[in-house]
Amino acid sequence: MKYVLVTGGVVSGLGKGVTASSIGVVLRACGLRVTCIKIDPYLNTDAGTMSPFEHGEVFVLDDGGEVDLDLGNYERFVDVTLTRDNNITTGKIYQSVLDKERRGDYLGKTVQVVPHITDAIRNWIESVSVIPVDGKEGPADVCVIELGGTVGDIESMPFIEALRQLSFSVGQEKFCLIHVSLIPVLGVVGEQKTKPTQHSVRELRALGLTPHLLACRSAQPLLENTKQKLSQFCHVAAGNILNIHDVPNIWHIPLLLRNQNAHRSILQQLNLLSIATPPDLKDWTKMAETYDNLTNSVRIAMVGKYVGLTDSYLSVVKALLHACIACSLKPEIDWIAASDLEDDSAKLTPEAHAAAWKTLRNAACVLVPGGFGDRGVRGMILAAKYARENNVPYLGICLGMQISVIEFARAVLGLERADSTEFDAQTPNPVVIFMPEGSRTHMGSTMRLGSRRTLFQTPDCITSKLYKNSEYVDERHRHRYEVNPDVIGSLEEAGLKFVGKDDSGRRMEILELPSHPFYVGVQFHPEFKSRPRRPSALFLGLILAATGQLETYLRGNQSNC
Ligand code: GLN
Repeated sequence: MKYVLVTGGVVSGLGKGVTASSIGVVLRACGLRVTCIKIDPYLNTDAGTMSPFEHGEVFVLDDGGEVDLDLGNYERFVDVTLTRDNNITTGKIYQSVLDKERRGDYLGKTVQVVPHITDAIRNWIESVSVIPVDGKEGPADVCVIELGGTVGDIESMPFIEALRQLSFSVGQEKFCLIHVSLIPVLGVVGEQKTKPTQHSVRELRALGLTPHLLACRSAQPLLENTKQKLSQFCHVAAGNILNIHDVPNIWHIPLLLRNQNAHRSILQQLNLLSIATPPDLKDWTKMAETYDNLTNSVRIAMVGKYVGLTDSYLSVVKALLHACIACSLKPEIDWIAASDLEDDSAKLTPEAHAAAWKTLRNAACVLVPGGFGDRGVRGMILAAKYARENNVPYLGICLGMQISVIEFARAVLGLERADSTEFDAQTPNPVVIFMPEGSRTHMGSTMRLGSRRTLFQTPDCITSKLYKNSEYVDERHRHRYEVNPDVIGSLEEAGLKFVGKDDSGRRMEILELPSHPFYVGVQFHPEFKSRPRRPSALFLGLILAATGQLETYLRGNQSNC
């Protein structure tokens, strides 16, 4: 196994994750098999209990791992299926060491950060890197490891030390360190400043790690003399100083790296030049260019709770992008804070209320994504009602599906107080209920998580056709509540059809309203498996419906999609 370690310096938010996944893309394009590990030095065991407001979306893996959203970037870019162990956190490492200590495995020794925590980190990396993630047998050729945070952070110290030991033990030809840094431009002269990078490289070297390549983030391309300076003061060959300047879209990053021969430098360091092929990035070039040249757009109303931080719905945004690109359309996402649609907001914040409704009415389709807690739920119900009554294409994901059930029960069945027990524990009409296997006392990893099978109940429905008439579909889940099986009969009689169920037949997975052009709710999260060249069927369906192309598409004439 060969390792490519990506560290970051100066500031966070440099796009280290995108850089690391783009390196994976380029190496893969050279014919190598690639796996990835993301290290998050925080204490949380996983991202499951972290607020999307603060940390962005919680990404869910096939195995039910609730992980950092960067793992989503890796899956989408490198086209792999990762496991929960590909995300290492301080919490996981300490938990494993403390479990061992309690079992008595350390035989009376004093358990310490060095060597016990650092050994646990090394062992974790070495054992996870050999798990195949690309559907093939046997270990990958290269493991890209991204160390979260910035070099010098107190909490990343044990990881840096473990990685230093790893680089020493595997030897020169198996370890390549790429340091991502920032080159700011200051003052009227507009000079590109190298000092912050010099400092962070010095810090890294003081900790025993010397970068082989620098990936410098900057607004404009780096000047030749900036590169010379960096090379001289940072102890990195000029040819190994890469520049990631601002680009119109992130799909350009692998191309930018390839154009600077990043692959050659990395392959040379890892002594892999002889087995690698020249990078084939035709698909990426096409994608990046298509994206740049889109002229027509489609307006999508995203009605959610966490609209202040768009990273909260990162995979949904990406899935919309993948679907739109497949239809040669630019996504125009209109974020609507669900609470702004509510009647209360008409009194308290009339302008925001009017603006939210105007935006909703202007959109070609409505998407209500997943979420937790009751904030904004009334607004989401109004959005679902608006879409249902006005034949506007609607996709409800997880919470969005539960919302459409509540709305339908209230408006069509006349059950005014119909609700989810998540929002009203005392509701006389619980149409969405807590799942029996959930835990009421523990939040972490106690939901119904990961890949589960949905069986189509009939081939004669939009979603089955979108999934190419397959009998079942495996999608990822993350929920505690479900549609109450006792109300299915009355909902179906009134016209809401549950066309996808789990294998027990008691758990509702997909709903459709046959009388509507596209009204779909899914208990799972199709966004997590959407990939740039393989858009999620349901997102594609939504965009096609929004642009009046769905029927033609379903009839087999796939027009320009
Ligand atoms: N809060 C709902 C549940 O737990 C929906 C979850 C979600 O949208 N991911 O079932």
